[in-house]
Amino acid sequence: MRGYSEDYFSSRRMFNWGDEWHMSFAGCGFRSIYYVGALSCILERVPRLVCGASTFGGASSGCLVAAALAVGIPIEKLCFMILITAKEARKHILGVFHPRFSLLRVVQRSLLDMLPEDAHLRATGRLCVSLTQLSNGRNVLVSEFASRDELVQVLTCSCFFPIYCGFIPPSYRGVLYMDGALSNNMPLFEHRNTITLAPFSGESDICPTEGTFNFFEAHYSNVSIQVNTGNVHRVCTSFLPPRLEKLAEICHNGYMDALRFLKKQDLLGAECSPCSLVLSDKFPCCEPAKMEDWKKTKMLLNNGGKRKEHQWLDQRLMENLPMGIRKVLCEVCRESYNAGSWWSSLTNILPVKMQTLLLLPFNISLHLFKRLGRERQTLRGHSRPLQTHTKTCRQ
Ligand SMILES: [Zn+2]
Repeated sequence: MRGYSEDYFSSRRMFNWGDEWHMSFAGCGFRSIYYVGALSCILERVPRLVCGASTFGGASSGCLVAAALAVGIPIEKLCFMILITAKEARKHILGVFHPRFSLLRVVQRSLLDMLPEDAHLRATGRLCVSLTQLSNGRNVLVSEFASRDELVQVLTCSCFFPIYCGFIPPSYRGVLYMDGALSNNMPLFEHRNTITLAPFSGESDICPTEGTFNFFEAHYSNVSIQVNTGNVHRVCTSFLPPRLEKLAEICHNGYMDALRFLKKQDLLGAECSPCSLVLSDKFPCCEPAKMEDWKKTKMLLNNGGKRKEHQWLDQRLMENLPMGIRKVLCEVCRESYNAGSWWSSLTNILPVKMQTLLLLPFNISLHLFKRLGRERQTLRGHSRPLQTHTKTCRQ
């Protein structure tokens, strides 16, 4: 693990079009939706900043964003993938800790769905994934991928946070790895012309700003993070996915923070005048027909009770976002809202809520033991899904 002094963080220069540049995304779990907002702003206003970047680096969930950019996956698809993963995780009351839910398996499945056949060719030399070796905690950066399966394997390794994702770490070329954020959460940081992004307030180029007074700043794994209540909450919601509406808000925050960066760095051209606000007034994010259907359904369900338009997602939470992203956010939130089960209504009742919270530590421990048992059984058996694609070592 390489560490950088506080002076290094504060001495980072202005962006320079003359040198080659890179983009790096810190690992942040479900908060990676922040990058969708930030990237949608850059792609809308200064697309060259993304299209012309030499390398995209990332650790943990940040490497999934970097991979999407290196391979050329549309950002709307990435947005959909993050929301669907969060939706899956929120299905169960124990969220990511539920024994039937495997975050790594969901990520792996999404990658196989999303990545084209030649993804490894496109990613080689353009993607830099941070991994942490399980045996010694050393950081390894991977930029070459022999096949699409190997690319999926490397990305999966970088996302494996021990216990949270399971007990048995995945391997790449016969070596066991864990979350890249544990040893280097901002690959390519050493290059001066790297645009760094993190959804935690600190010294990254694109990150939230904090209005409150900060006691001190922590530098961990090449990411500067302020120690404040805002960031404590952000770290918690990285691991435990918040409501989909909250994710839409985080996405919007990413957009606004990227816009502030572009202004500060004087990267906004005269021809790129803000226009999304005007557009959003003219075009709704969903078809009126669908809204009408929804209203009728709700009227029947609520027996004509109090209703609010577009109740599944407050449109103000995404007013500046480009239309493509707004459509995805609206669609996923609407589906989730309409499918709102009797269970979610039940758990909103205070006594049930209290009982659920009191039993939560017990339930989590029980399910972790169950998961450990299941993974051990899988290990004893011949099939380990994360290792089935291992290729021969080229080292
Ligand atoms: Zn809508």
